Amino acid sequence: MAQPASGKSVAASKRGLRWGIVGATTIAREWMIGAIRETGGEVVSVMSSDAERGKAYAEANGIPHSTRSLATLLAKDIDAVYIATTNEKHKAQTLAAAKAGIHVLCEKPLALKLADAHRMVAACKEAGVVMATNHHLRNAAAFRAMRDAVASGKIGKPLFARVFHAVYLPPHLQGWRIKDAKAGSGVVMDITVHDADTLRFVLGEEPVAATAFTQQGGMGGTGIEDGVMGVVRFESGLLAQFHDAFTTAYAKTGFEVHGSEGSLIGTDCMTQKPVGEVVLRNASGEHKLPFEPENLYVRSVANFQNAVRGKGTPSATGEDGIRSMALALAVLKSAKTGREVAVEPGL
Ligand code: NDP
Repeated sequence: MAQPASGKSVAASKRGLRWGIVGATTIAREWMIGAIRETGGEVVSVMSSDAERGKAYAEANGIPHSTRSLATLLAKDIDAVYIATTNEKHKAQTLAAAKAGIHVLCEKPLALKLADAHRMVAACKEAGVVMATNHHLRNAAAFRAMRDAVASGKIGKPLFARVFHAVYLPPHLQGWRIKDAKAGSGVVMDITVHDADTLRFVLGEEPVAATAFTQQGGMGGTGIEDGVMGVVRFESGLLAQFHDAFTTAYAKTGFEVHGSEGSLIGTDCMTQKPVGEVVLRNASGEHKLPFEPENLYVRSVANFQNAVRGKGTPSATGEDGIRSMALALAVLKSAKTGREVAVEPGL
């Protein structure tokens, strides 16, 4: 049985976690603050680099405190931080939280360089705090149902997967993601990392190599890709094709796995919402997989909270965050060099 992490686990064992939110962000406002509260957690403070924005954000979201200083946030009586600043800031903020003995739920991509992500995971391990990556899709009932179907042999030997994750980046998010290379912009670090995690989760195996082409379709700034297509080879020889974009307003999302005895066709499932359906097609026809939709972010926070209490692991660990980044970085390298690139997470 997993041991409770040291950090602040004992204090947290009988109640919901007390959280600090690092970054006055859209994702926290739209999903994570609600998810924390639904698991019995309390949002104690929010950190923003801008005092006025932080104050307004705290007021709008019913958070008692705001601060410009990470040290001040970490000095509050909190058990955990949710780090959702722009990607180049995740590393320093994670290291500071670990040093303060505070558990870390960090957004993807964990960092911009693999070595930094390794440092983050190692620091949390050394400090005895839980570290998780907020890959939401593996929390979706649709993907859990697909994973179970693959693992129980419902499609025979899995041979191919296809990921359709081309979306339209809404105007309110058309900021750093498409303009600021230093912040880790571009569709690959934003969306392909999620494909990587979901493929690993559903297939239960690791990617070994990738080839890809990126595109600048008119939204991304100079040198920043807003579309990508590629192919990933997995350990078993399975090939996975993926298509990610910020620029397609009318494409449908989907996730398919095709095996020797059947195919799983997931539609409308690459999303933050608990929607989508999965159909198993085989010799006996078409059968909808039964599952109960569940809020993805609530499940992520609940599993994180359990891990802090020594029950199980987070939905996606720090190591999972390293692995998804490794594939995304291989995709970027392949697009740059025009070659197949090995996926090397260094784990
Ligand atoms: P936002 O663009 O909403 O926020 C990022 C940063 O931008 C904030 O930390 C904030 O700085 C600054 N900012 C926010 N609003 C303003 C504003 N009006 N004017 C000036 N600056 C502003 O980011 P997202 O919420 O879209 O993404 C944050 C992180 O979460 C990223 O790492 C992203 O990859 C990840 N993400 C993950 C998702 C998932 O499902 N797992 C989904 C969406 C995002 P400050 O904090 O200093 O105020």
